[in-house]
Amino acid sequence: MSKYDITVIGSGPGGYVAAIRCAQLGLKTAIIEKYPTLGGTCLNVGCIPSKALLDSSEHYHNAASKFSAHGIKLKDLKMDLKQMIKRKNEVVKQTCDGIAYLMKKNKIDVIHGTGTFIDKNTIEVSPEKGKKLKIETDKTIIATGSKPSSLPGIEIDKKRIITSTEALNLTEVPKHLILIGGGIIGLEMGSVFARLGAKVSVLEFMDGIITTMDKSLGKELQKTLKNIGMEFYMKHRVTSATVKGKSVAVTAEDKSGKVVSLKGDYCIMAVGRSPYTKGLGLDNAGVKLDDRGRIDVNDDLETNVKGIYAIGDVVKGAMLAHKAEDEGVFLAEKIVGQKPHINYNLIPSVVYTWPEVAGVGYTEEQLKADGVKYKVGSFPFKASGRARASMDLEGFVKILADSDTDEILGVHMIGPRAADMIAEAVVAMEFRASAEDIARICHAHPSFTEAFKEAAMDATEKRAIHI
Ligand code: FAD
Ligand code: NAD
Repeated sequence: MSKYDITVIGSGPGGYVAAIRCAQLGLKTAIIEKYPTLGGTCLNVGCIPSKALLDSSEHYHNAASKFSAHGIKLKDLKMDLKQMIKRKNEVVKQTCDGIAYLMKKNKIDVIHGTGTFIDKNTIEVSPEKGKKLKIETDKTIIATGSKPSSLPGIEIDKKRIITSTEALNLTEVPKHLILIGGGIIGLEMGSVFARLGAKVSVLEFMDGIITTMDKSLGKELQKTLKNIGMEFYMKHRVTSATVKGKSVAVTAEDKSGKVVSLKGDYCIMAVGRSPYTKGLGLDNAGVKLDDRGRIDVNDDLETNVKGIYAIGDVVKGAMLAHKAEDEGVFLAEKIVGQKPHINYNLIPSVVYTWPEVAGVGYTEEQLKADGVKYKVGSFPFKASGRARASMDLEGFVKILADSDTDEILGVHMIGPRAADMIAEAVVAMEFRASAEDIARICHAHPSFTEAFKEAAMDATEKRAIHI
């Protein structure tokens, strides 16, 4: 029986990053993955493929709707969905192969199969084909991620009522796509197909979209998504979805009990994801779950069983790849006795629609609820020369700073390249910058980042220059 210092179960961004950092720190490391490719949800059916299709569909949409204004004339513009999916698959393959290379480079043993605890220090691995094997391990990191959730009484048949996983491989553009849930997955996948010509209807239970982010962002995003033909039914709770041949009927109720019925050819279930612990044999090791089915961990990411840890989507906190990665590094360093830290308040959130949406720190709603005195600085992209040059005039940057100390408490933006721009806000806040610090730092001209500086100037004595 092979023996390891540490065994990681699951090779998503949490698991593979944890394994690499453990190996770098000198631990004899194994990683167990039940699927044939490494990379987990993120690389295979999540972040990477969705961004590949978002980019392709945005190119098509721009070619159809913006190029003529730039003086580029196209004849017979055609969309080739098969090629888009093929390119997406190539991107995924290259990225997953890259992880296999990194495992080799770091001398990490990769074992394919489902990992199940026999006891605290013994794991059985059951491959899809072939013989089971057992390994002995001193410590274990569980990084088994999450799976799409559904609603009671609705069966995901994976043909007409689908999840993001099937949506990433559709062979036709839906005529009418119904989205259950106006969260990140719904809006990203909805954007892809709306840009490619589908009618997209969003049924959302709350009175806003992307409700975990600052409210102003959802409001602005909804306006811009309407412009690409998406329609929204807010405060509607979906009660049923049924398939008949090639069509799907979805019903939802508003607060007064009024029923809306929609008929489409596809429906994406996007009401959140649930932690995945099936097949792990947690009882055999004595590992406990919390009341929401997540593996219960303390601040050091250790479970109730000494030497068994858990990270990423399977534990509390944001279900984000970079959160899982940071926990992987944190844990490896903690295990060898270093003193790493993670600031959970400074994990940025990004939605890769166009315009992109990004936020970090406290939202205005949270500051109000906590009774914190704050000031607001904002700057619209329509006043940015860079944004005018690229025809990306929608959106704004908003900075929330402490009224007394001027420390930046939250940054929320919707606009071109917000996904990349938010990094500056994270760095500023990690170093506890004031709005004035940002206002006095030189930003290249013309660049989208000037909007961040102008918002900071607006927050400090309302002295933005270009508005
Ligand atoms: P996962 O990536 O889910 O990996 C878990 C792995 O464990 C899987 O490979 C699974 O097969 C394996 N496993 C499970 N049980 C066992 C077992 N018993 N034995 C062996 N192996 C097992 N996040 C972002 O930050 N940015 C994005 O742009 C983004 N886009 C997304 C788009 C979509 C469509 C989806 C669905 C998700 C997206 N996410 C995004 C979320 C992101 O994918 C997850 O937060 C991230 O993958 C979590 O990483 P993880 O390592 O915890 O788990
Ligand atoms: P989500 O939690 O973001 O959104 C789900 C939405 O469904 C919510 O707005 C909720 O109010 C709504 N809903 C729930 N029940 C409903 C009902 N009966 N009728 C109508 N609406 C209902 O979940 P998601 O979009 O499925 O995404 C799952 C996770 O994946 C997210 O937590 C996110 O962290 C991650 N993700 C991240 C990215 C990114 O970082 N860009 C991209 C995709 C996914």
